[in-house]
Amino acid sequence: MSILVYIENTEGKLKKGAFEAASYASGLASQLGTTAFGVSVGTVSEEELKKVGQYGIAEVLQVAGENVNHQDVATAIASVAKEKESSSIILSNTWMGKGVGPRLAIKLGAGIVTEVVDLPNGNVVKKKAFSGKAFANISMSKSINVLAVSPNAYGLKENAVSTSIAAAGSAGGSNLKHESYNRDTSKLSLTDAELVVSAGRGLKGPENWGMIEELAETLGAATACSKPVSDADWRPHHEHVGQTGIAIAPNLYIAVGISGAIQHLAGVSSSKKIVVINTDPEAPFFKAADYGIVGDAFEVIPKLTESMRRAKD
Ligand code: FAD
Repeated sequence: MSILVYIENTEGKLKKGAFEAASYASGLASQLGTTAFGVSVGTVSEEELKKVGQYGIAEVLQVAGENVNHQDVATAIASVAKEKESSSIILSNTWMGKGVGPRLAIKLGAGIVTEVVDLPNGNVVKKKAFSGKAFANISMSKSINVLAVSPNAYGLKENAVSTSIAAAGSAGGSNLKHESYNRDTSKLSLTDAELVVSAGRGLKGPENWGMIEELAETLGAATACSKPVSDADWRPHHEHVGQTGIAIAPNLYIAVGISGAIQHLAGVSSSKKIVVINTDPEAPFFKAADYGIVGDAFEVIPKLTESMRRAKD
């Protein structure tokens, strides 16, 4: 019995989700008195892969492959999981993890729990439910389980070891090929951002987003928006957060001129700290806020940006 963690890469680079999954796998391995192996699929340098040593993974099996898709990755992980007789396969609940996890579970005849937030207690594992508004304790009845760890929930746990990399064949060959990805590389990715400044209809029009971008830039934050804002083309659709948009869990979410409708909260309520700026003291968002400012965004935001700038100098 072993633990296997999928070390996800984005164009050859490991992101925070991979390190969180590695931290979780190491924690689970030490809880069960077993070993956690890593598996990487695609083209990643050894130097990059060795970074998971910081989070307790001493061996990574590297499956080579170009332009691998979800099916290729699931097939490669399943093969390594069988070889290592893994009882738990850990991945991050990212876009890739959401595509790979169910395919992997089918291939292994395994159970799957997504949006996991903590290590299991016996065979019971805690996960987010109802878009992060509640938690559910899931009893795992299968002997093999896929656990997809929610980003920014379990966190990073350092436990440095030196890591060796071993070649483990190659992936690819499924009928569906991803020829290319068009990634927005110009800005901080919303799902990876630790800080997010988001604005809603209270901003009145797209011409007023300059102050939101300025605050975001000062903080090193990504920008987001409510659904009506992207529906009206004030902002691009990839910034829309909520039930029908992206779900995020940054360390800090600043909501400006957003009422806090339940569908919006569904995508942001897992944020570690929420700051709400709204003219209406009765705005529902204040109930979900850690800090609130009742005030006009057009007065508050320039002052906030200025004080953040001064604090950084
Ligand atoms: P409003 O509700 O118009 O709120 C604007 C807020 O700005 C108000 O609270 C107001 O007091 C405040 N304000 C006004 N002027 C100022 C000022 N000068 N300074 C500061 N504050 C000011 N919405 C999402 O966001 N994401 C989703 O994924 C989503 N999915 C949905 C799915 C379904 C099926 C449905 C039915 C709805 C969905 N919605 C979603 C829409 C959601 O119900 C709300 O209508 C929407 O979130 C409201 O957006 P808003 O807060 O920007 O605008």
